[in-house]
Amino acid sequence: ANLSANLMTIVKANFTEEQGDFISSALDFAVHAHRDQRRKSGSPFIEHPIATAQYLAQLRMDPDTVAAGLLHDTMEDCDVEYKELVDHFNPSVATLVDSVTKLNADGSMLPWNPDGSAPITGGLDGSSEGEAALATARAASMRKMFVAMAKDVRVVVIKLADRLHNMLTLKALPYHRQIAIARETLDIYAPLAHRLGMWDLKWRLEDESFKYLQPREFRALSRLLQRKRAEREDYVERVTAATKQALGDAGIEAEVTGRAKHIYSIHQKAARYAAQGKKLTDIHDLFALRVFVDSVGDCYAALGVIHGIWPPMGGQFDDYIASPKENMYQSLHTTVRAVDGLPVEVQIRTPEMHNVSENGIAAHTLYKEGGDSPDRFDEGMTLLRQLLESDRDQGEDFEWLEQIK
Ligand code: MN
Repeated sequence: ANLSANLMTIVKANFTEEQGDFISSALDFAVHAHRDQRRKSGSPFIEHPIATAQYLAQLRMDPDTVAAGLLHDTMEDCDVEYKELVDHFNPSVATLVDSVTKLNADGSMLPWNPDGSAPITGGLDGSSEGEAALATARAASMRKMFVAMAKDVRVVVIKLADRLHNMLTLKALPYHRQIAIARETLDIYAPLAHRLGMWDLKWRLEDESFKYLQPREFRALSRLLQRKRAEREDYVERVTAATKQALGDAGIEAEVTGRAKHIYSIHQKAARYAAQGKKLTDIHDLFALRVFVDSVGDCYAALGVIHGIWPPMGGQFDDYIASPKENMYQSLHTTVRAVDGLPVEVQIRTPEMHNVSENGIAAHTLYKEGGDSPDRFDEGMTLLRQLLESDRDQGEDFEWLEQIK
């Protein structure tokens, strides 16, 4: 009852009353359909679709998608028919649920051995042949996702929200399932979230997978972050205060925050450092400074002010406002020698850019509600559809995936 109430609070904040009633009716339907089912952990099954829908509602996906999030396991687990969903809701909701169900069903979506090393189907052993087969199995799964995505990207967004909750509750499963699911999440779902520009989701999926796949490394980095916490917070405080002061003096209104990086990204950075014979111990590696301003003009003005108080480090500046990344990410990035001469990474952006940078395609669908003209994303989807069309029955999944990339 608590979870339902939480969901409806978020729904009330983000949707109209009519839309809220529609989502509420999907909630009632799902509660009824799953009424006798429990998850492996022993908790009522309905917690899972509610959590999935809650993430979708927070992303401000459209009402059909949130409803489909609530209903996404009803066809597979409760023998609810497509026609029933059309009658109770609409064809769009029914098709979304049907597509998510098919992604589950026709895929060897778990093509790995319990140790996570090779596809179950091939009976392989981690040899180079095994590696190739693994790459092919990944490519086949990716292909299925891309086909679904080209038809309706919301199907994949629902799958990603579904996977996030499965990862957050992975503890209840037996060890070999944990490893296989975490492996698949890191290999397929996180890269997919990356390609869709859904950074918040990507990082959460990576951190959760890392926790299960490399538990010792995960614990070591968590402890490092914990140990350095007071030191880091003190340093962030000093850099933040100085930045605010300088921006204020220049008449620029800004919000400045210093957020700890995600554990998996720190792990990757540590690996890069190790390759260069360097050690990751300094606190400045553990966070990035974020500056939020109201307009694009203020982004550049703030950059000038920051470079005025702290010298930029050579070769470490990127203008993703003038040249956005392929997944629509926009920000100014610079690394400066800040307080005590320590290098600090600074990201400067507007709140709109921030929403796109955290939520990617989900933010895009939100802005599309106004019905504006086709943009880079639409062009990309058209191209993807054409590639899927032209290549339908040709070639290996692996070659095909290279082309799609
Ligand atoms: Mn599910």
